[in-house]
Amino acid sequence: MGKVNSITSPAPKGGVSYKQISIEYENMPVILKPVYTGICGTDRGIVNGALQFAYCPPGYSDLALGHESICKVVSAKSNEFGIRSGDLVVPQVRRPGKCLNCATGRSDNCSDGDKHEAGITGMHGFMREEFGDYPEYLLKVSSDSIREVGVLTEPLKNVEKAFEVYEVASRRSISTDRFGSLSEKRAIVIGTGSEAFLYALKCRDYGFQTLITNRHPVDDLKMKFLDAAGVEFFDYTKEHRDSKGWDLVIDTSGDPGTILRFLRKTNNNGNIILFGTNGKAPATGIDGQDIDYIIERNIFLIGSVDGARVHYERALQDLERWNAQYGDRLKSLITHRFSPQDTSVFTKKDPLEIKSVIDWSM
Ligand code: NAP
Ligand code: ZN
Repeated sequence: MGKVNSITSPAPKGGVSYKQISIEYENMPVILKPVYTGICGTDRGIVNGALQFAYCPPGYSDLALGHESICKVVSAKSNEFGIRSGDLVVPQVRRPGKCLNCATGRSDNCSDGDKHEAGITGMHGFMREEFGDYPEYLLKVSSDSIREVGVLTEPLKNVEKAFEVYEVASRRSISTDRFGSLSEKRAIVIGTGSEAFLYALKCRDYGFQTLITNRHPVDDLKMKFLDAAGVEFFDYTKEHRDSKGWDLVIDTSGDPGTILRFLRKTNNNGNIILFGTNGKAPATGIDGQDIDYIIERNIFLIGSVDGARVHYERALQDLERWNAQYGDRLKSLITHRFSPQDTSVFTKKDPLEIKSVIDWSM
């Protein structure tokens, strides 16, 4: 049984170690090494014991962490799915259960919860110096130019899926403006973390006038990135930009009070994507007038989680395109790099962080 250095947590108790754990992987069809693994709130939530839904695989008292990654193929037993040694790949996080959606490649829409997520629920993650996987769960990265930003494929696939749902939702009415485009339509992204930035880029691609907001100002690096992307920032505690209303509201904060604030300024036939989660956010009052407002304006509330293989594919295409379009600005989303041994990144977050990654060559 292969003993490899891994970043682990005794989920759901909390805690983090860089240590050797024994996980059989040598007979798996594809052997991989991580190049970069990303860190997000879920990893930190597992480490500080706040995510009770996280659990170890059967027979283990430790869970290898890591669901955002770009990896190098060390060896591939066959060339199934075109995966060959030396390739860069992104492994899918969610693995199917037995429901019909899972059986047809849409475990993102799992209907009974009987699925697993690498590094989160019952399956070891990718923060291991070497591990095995099946070729059908690996997405090939076609260009070495996105070797580092490719680690954003996993968070971006969530955005791609949410926009797929938005497209279905917006088909119910004329959703474009008098020019047949979205140039007069206004999108607001709540929050200024990495997912919010990816949403903002996607809104710009669609042609929305795109604004992004938080309850405090943001630093210079973030402002420069937003500027390059044509996205306007405002601090909603100081400024109101709602006079023309919002056609698309995307929340990454998970804060009910803030969502309601923007919901109350949403235009007719508007869509609201609920994406951020924060179980500890305070309750907020929603009254009969709010329900009336939602009904009378045909407002569509969309909850969206995860993404399927097709969304990873779209994410890779977008990253390649954005890399060509924004160059170093896109790379600036990766603000911090850590060695696998330095687990401090799991317990503290630098206020200047957009995305922190573990560089497995360090
Ligand atoms: P993140 O960096 O923590 O982003 C959350 C952002 O929301 C931060 O910029 C935070 O601001 C901001 N925020 C918090 N409360 C706010 C408020 N009241 N008003 C305005 N902004 C507020 O996390 P992320 O990695 O980008 O992920 C975003 C969220 O999506 C997280 O909740 C995550 O759990 C969730 N998520 C959902 C899915 C899904 O499939 N639905 C997948 C991945 C992640 P400051 O921290 O700067 O104050
Ligand atoms: Zn399922």
